[in-house]
Amino acid sequence: VIAFEEAQAFVLDTLAVLTPDTLTLEDALGCVMAEELMARESVPGFINSSMDGFALRASDTVSGSVRLRVIGSVLAGDATSPRIAAGEAMRIMTGAPLPEGADCVCMIEEAIVEPADDTVRIERTFAPGEFLRHPGEDIEIGQVLFSPGQELGAPGVGVLASQGFSSVLVHRRPRVGVLSTGNELSRSQGSLRGGEIRDTNRPLLLALLHESGFEPVDLGIVRDDLGDITQRLRNGVRDCDAVISTGGVSVGDVDHVKLVIGELGGESARWMQVAIRPGKPFAYGVVGEERTPVFGLPGNPVSTRVSFELFVRPALRLLAGHHQLTRPQFDVVLDDDLPRVPDGKLHLIHAVARVHGDGRVHVVRTIRHGSHLLSAIVEANAILMLSDGVGLSAGDVVRAMILDVDRLCAAS
Ligand code: AMP
Ligand code: MG
Repeated sequence: VIAFEEAQAFVLDTLAVLTPDTLTLEDALGCVMAEELMARESVPGFINSSMDGFALRASDTVSGSVRLRVIGSVLAGDATSPRIAAGEAMRIMTGAPLPEGADCVCMIEEAIVEPADDTVRIERTFAPGEFLRHPGEDIEIGQVLFSPGQELGAPGVGVLASQGFSSVLVHRRPRVGVLSTGNELSRSQGSLRGGEIRDTNRPLLLALLHESGFEPVDLGIVRDDLGDITQRLRNGVRDCDAVISTGGVSVGDVDHVKLVIGELGGESARWMQVAIRPGKPFAYGVVGEERTPVFGLPGNPVSTRVSFELFVRPALRLLAGHHQLTRPQFDVVLDDDLPRVPDGKLHLIHAVARVHGDGRVHVVRTIRHGSHLLSAIVEANAILMLSDGVGLSAGDVVRAMILDVDRLCAAS
């Protein structure tokens, strides 16, 4: 039996980030930058107005009260406009280029318009540059916009678009195959025959992958047959950047997956008994020239979820180039007793976590618990990491892995 940290480190040590690829901005959202990107255009590209108002010459306003002749108007997108001479002003809209001769803008709210004779009265002194936006104020040519390793978020997409970039070199989103194993898994949507169950893990894992920004690939269901499992895992390795299978890694008579992963992974493979509950049996190896990781997770759905969070997701984030591999983890306040018996294992307990009025995060465990009770964890947004011992009492703090930060603030 090995510690959770050792099992996780064993997996991460076998992996390297995927080779970069050029993706459209839309596809690259959430990916990690693989190149340094420098600005090639200045933003703004020209002097323009930051307000709707009047472009004028500051020197005309020194007396503190002046009446200027309005000689025309310039809109955002206009390329040229007449030159402004002393005693003149021009209507100007936000984003419009500043007309030649002008050196500031008076916003419309401050101007007294006299439509009858096409004049405007300005009742204060202006300094050159007021309400103007200057070239390079946002971005200067040559400035470093992104460094390798930075994650591309929505504002980043906007910045790249403001520079005219339509694609970018990023680490690919890993394509991850999901295979379910087990003679008991029904292949039809119809009514179940004796002994059959529906395949929960495959849709569960495909959804978990999707939620975490990876590209899920459905590898279907396979029976507990050594040859078939070998073939399907090989195909998965050929087509994907990583493969997850569930079932068949325990000590049952037809638990072949651990053998197949051992066979395919050779030296790199390891069948582990991890000191965690749930999720104790775990098979892992890297397969083929591309060293594709293959994860053999236990079949109980709650175990599958826990193993995904502990081992699979951090590994896939490493492949994707992320530096932060794990979910946010911090100490939270227990609102209920959390008794347990010492068994040498780290217990992973689904819980509902909420920010309370005291500004702290409080948790209550899900009412029913068991590695086969998936419906009990639907509302959970955290996994408590309860160390070995006799448990904790209400009011104690416990380490929690937060799965859904948005729901920290949901009404309970
Ligand atoms: P195993 O790890 O293959 O021994 O399976 C452990 C338990 O998980 C058994 O009760 C299986 O029937 C169940 N199980 C395995 N695979 C799935 C699946 N894809 N969906 C739902 N339950 C499963
Ligand atoms: Mg099985």
